[in-house]
Amino acid sequence: MTRARIRATVILTVVCAILGAARADALTIFPVDRAEILAGARFDFKVEFDGVVSPGDVRVTVNGMDHAKMLGAAARFIETEPGANASAVLLRDASLSRPGSYSIVATDGKQTKTVVWEVYSTGPRKARNVILFIGDGMSMAHRTAARILSKRITEGRYHGKLAMDAMPYMALVGTSGVDSVITDSANSASAYTTGHKSSVNALGVYADRTPDTLDDPKVETITSLVKRRLGMAVGVVTNTEVEDATPAAMVAHTRRRSDYDPIVGMFYESKVEVLMGGGSAHFLPQSAPGSRRKDETDYLAKFRDAGYTVVSTDQEMKAASPAETKKLLGLFHPGNMDGVLDRKFLKKGTVERYPHQPDLVDQLKSALEILSRHDKGFVLMVESGLIDKYSHPLDWERAVMDTIMLDRAVEVAKEFAGRRRDTLVLVVADHSHGLSIVGTVDDETQGEQMRDKVGVYEKARFPNYPPPNAEGYPERLDVSRRLAIFFSGHPDYYETWRPKLDGPFVPAVAGPDKRFIANEKFKDAPGAVLRPGNLPRDAPQAVHTGEDVVLTGMGPGAEVIKGFMDNTEVFRVMVNALGLGQEAKR
Ligand SMILES: [Zn+2]
Repeated sequence: MTRARIRATVILTVVCAILGAARADALTIFPVDRAEILAGARFDFKVEFDGVVSPGDVRVTVNGMDHAKMLGAAARFIETEPGANASAVLLRDASLSRPGSYSIVATDGKQTKTVVWEVYSTGPRKARNVILFIGDGMSMAHRTAARILSKRITEGRYHGKLAMDAMPYMALVGTSGVDSVITDSANSASAYTTGHKSSVNALGVYADRTPDTLDDPKVETITSLVKRRLGMAVGVVTNTEVEDATPAAMVAHTRRRSDYDPIVGMFYESKVEVLMGGGSAHFLPQSAPGSRRKDETDYLAKFRDAGYTVVSTDQEMKAASPAETKKLLGLFHPGNMDGVLDRKFLKKGTVERYPHQPDLVDQLKSALEILSRHDKGFVLMVESGLIDKYSHPLDWERAVMDTIMLDRAVEVAKEFAGRRRDTLVLVVADHSHGLSIVGTVDDETQGEQMRDKVGVYEKARFPNYPPPNAEGYPERLDVSRRLAIFFSGHPDYYETWRPKLDGPFVPAVAGPDKRFIANEKFKDAPGAVLRPGNLPRDAPQAVHTGEDVVLTGMGPGAEVIKGFMDNTEVFRVMVNALGLGQEAKR
């Protein structure tokens, strides 16, 4: 071929590919192309046609067979979908029991779309229990800083490892969702709890085009799977609101993570044995003081009636667990709980108003006690959720202290698992944040501005935080040579170069036209400088980033953790360990 012909062929190929892609996008099939589906797990199947089509022209096949017969459920043709002037085929509670490759072809007579799914089985059950730790937003810098602060480093060598580091298996995990390279905590946690990717703000569903947030095609959660198929107990422990994305991903199906009222109902329906965290405001009937519900349902009463011991303080929680409690609802705050820096050291944040919040480590201990009383094993998700909540407002000290807290909880789980040898323990983040350790800030360095005191390379030396206390926390963070950690994406804010001892940092506040401007409150901090933002002006704080996160694991089934893994594979590690996809057991 001549050069000109090669170029013409290349151009033609590219144009065809673009046109082909454009045409294919007009039809949408859920689950999406390349979905990996656990044998026997339930999912909703949906085809969205481009415009109103005639049912006579519609043909949907699975490996060449009629789709309803193959998917084991009744399909419904919807001529005009609400809010979308177009037709769809919808089939709820489908499942495929035989592993293998499935090719799904949908046509309306004019347009055709094909997607391919992989249905996978598992071997026999290896683990009695699974404990999944999620450090929300926990990035490399959080982890390294937590190691520096809680284990110390001199002459380049640490004086110990984090509990989450000292695990035999490790992998990098990619976090992107169906719709974007950058994920939020809803669709990233859903990937872990359902094995399906989804879109920003979506929990346990594929995000469809209709405006109703509760009608989207669902995928089964690990909670439902282990209860339905193995009769296991399930625990959900966090220090954010329990309705927040990560804990909600254990049970919820909604396109919109802020559907807090329905999410409380989904927790109730899920019958999880242990549910602990903040977020009581959405459990109270609308007329009760402090309620944020939009109806009169009293979920505290409903949980009590269903046999749950309901507690609201650390003391009540500890008193409840030694008794014959088998089901526990612990709600320790109307909103998000306070982090460890405020609870144990500074008494800032909302600690004065809510002085009896438990520590995540104690929440875990109570959960383990209660869940161990169930004879079929348990799945427990434990989230240190404020690592993320503090990283958004650039408050890295609080985020790192909560990373240490997570690690202390991991240590407790490792002790539990080490004694029994039947428990898979995983530690992972759901996405990263854009923070990095660049050196130290040394007050003793001469310089006109604070930036002159930033020591890089050999001038950084090592920070001089005091040795950690018995719990692994440094008693002081405002030392003379402290870590210099900066964020890559941020709004306008005043860099103060110091820990925020008066309470959690608020870098930016709403200005005119919903644009965020630097918070003037920090303008007069010694040496503060205005850092012009690099994010859109409507961003009040830092954002998630797209880098991989780290997964470490130990126990039966952990040996498959290696190299690079997709976030949906974390689900696969768990269901493999639990033998949830055994054909014979269906
Ligand atoms: Zn976040």
